[in-house]
Amino acid sequence: MHANFERIAPAGSTGIKVVIVGAGYGGLGCAIECIRKGHDVVVLEKFSELKIQGDILSLGPNAGRILARWGLHDKIWPICGHHPGLNLHNYKGEKIRFQASVQPLFGAYSYNGHRAEIHQVLFDHAVSLGVRIRMGQEVVSYWENDERKSSGVVLRGGEYIEADLVVAADGVRSQARRYILGYNDKPKTSGYALYRAWFDAAENGVDKDPLTNYLCTDGDVFYGWIGQDVHMLASSSRNGKTISWVITHKDDTDLQDTWSFPGKTEDVVKIVAGWDPRCAAILSKAPSCIDWKLIVHDPLPTWISKSGRVILVGDAAHPFLPTSAQGASQAIEDGVTLAVTLQLAGKNDVPLAVKSWENIRYQRVRNSQLMGESTRDKWHQAKPDDKGEHLDMPRPEWLFAFDAEAHAYSVYDGVAREIAEKGYQLPTLP
Ligand SMILES: Cc1cc2nc3c(=O)[nH]c(=O)nc-3n(C[C@H](O)[C@H](O)[C@H](O)COP(=O)(O)OP(=O)(O)OC[C@H]3O[C@@H](n4cnc5c(N)ncnc54)[C@H](O)[C@@H]3O)c2cc1C
Repeated sequence: MHANFERIAPAGSTGIKVVIVGAGYGGLGCAIECIRKGHDVVVLEKFSELKIQGDILSLGPNAGRILARWGLHDKIWPICGHHPGLNLHNYKGEKIRFQASVQPLFGAYSYNGHRAEIHQVLFDHAVSLGVRIRMGQEVVSYWENDERKSSGVVLRGGEYIEADLVVAADGVRSQARRYILGYNDKPKTSGYALYRAWFDAAENGVDKDPLTNYLCTDGDVFYGWIGQDVHMLASSSRNGKTISWVITHKDDTDLQDTWSFPGKTEDVVKIVAGWDPRCAAILSKAPSCIDWKLIVHDPLPTWISKSGRVILVGDAAHPFLPTSAQGASQAIEDGVTLAVTLQLAGKNDVPLAVKSWENIRYQRVRNSQLMGESTRDKWHQAKPDDKGEHLDMPRPEWLFAFDAEAHAYSVYDGVAREIAEKGYQLPTLP
């Protein structure tokens, strides 16, 4: 159906200069697709080097389809976990569901691996395509100039950089968000936080304890436990060599600047007091863990500046809950869609490309965010004897069979025409 939709162009051929702030999944995804579409790209990242940060990160088949098109499947697949499916239990430890993994699903693979390792693959790929990534460059302000039909950033140190479009992929604590909205949209607590850990199985005695050894003795596995207002997921990867767990629980801590810091094992195991003893056993094997407050923003009224030359993508525009497993996937889709709308609009119509992009993306992103909330809620509210299929992790076709690139090519003309004829309406929410 989507044969021949791809339109790769020589680097720099559209003449559209795109400055991308942030080299996370959103920024790198945008950079890779922009250079493939012929735009001239520079990425500015405040960290001076890539750090091994984070732990398990999931990419759905909707992102897997894009990564495969970029030729990255063979690099990412070997560094990911390959479990047969999710073994879901109630808090007492009774198995309530087994949901088999389906690989590929709707023609594409999903990936679950270490955030930093998959990130490195994307980073190396961007560099190999000729993307200029300037590390150690912190953006301190944004500007746009209608007369010059341009926008740009100022770096700490004073350097000005001008572009046709600035893409702020600066994460959940985005500074650009304030520039776009004209006010400070403070993050709120979602009412939940999670503790998370990633560690070596053998070094931490996972193989010696009968309450944990099934995680590492027979290849990769994926286990889950659900109870009132809490769920815990534990999985192994690299043929049982590494263990990762994430436990989500109620937490109304008022957020200050810090929302991710070291957690204490004694606090973590308290959450599963009275649960299946396997839970405390797994949790206490981790040599360290992170206490990660789950920040949410009300959906922003817009992701684009008044003149349409500075935009937010990824977590800066729409942070995700982990239960959606879509944060990085939607960030990548944002960039792919944008690269196409810019290519089709051309250098003289960048604001039209950007408005069309927001129109195409807005509702889809919102629907995926809502899916994350509903998965969390159904797990947290399930009765212990509930064994229904509705407890499975959702695999909706609208989400996973989607091809962001093909979709953008197929709908752009209609969306852009309507905006040009009727003026731009801000997106409305369900
Ligand atoms: C340290 C870290 C660890 C994470 N760990 C996990 C994890 O284990 N599992 C998981 O599912 N998700 C994790 N995430 C979140 C996940 O990466 C994102 O939800 C998702 O990939 C969307 O990415 P993004 O590019 O929009 O934002 P991010 O991944 O947050 O990337 C934003 C980038 O912008 C840079 N930046 C910010 N401000 C500026 C500025 N002013 N100038 C220049 N650069 C700037 C940041 O340094 C960062 O590299 C983590 C994010 C971070 C930052």
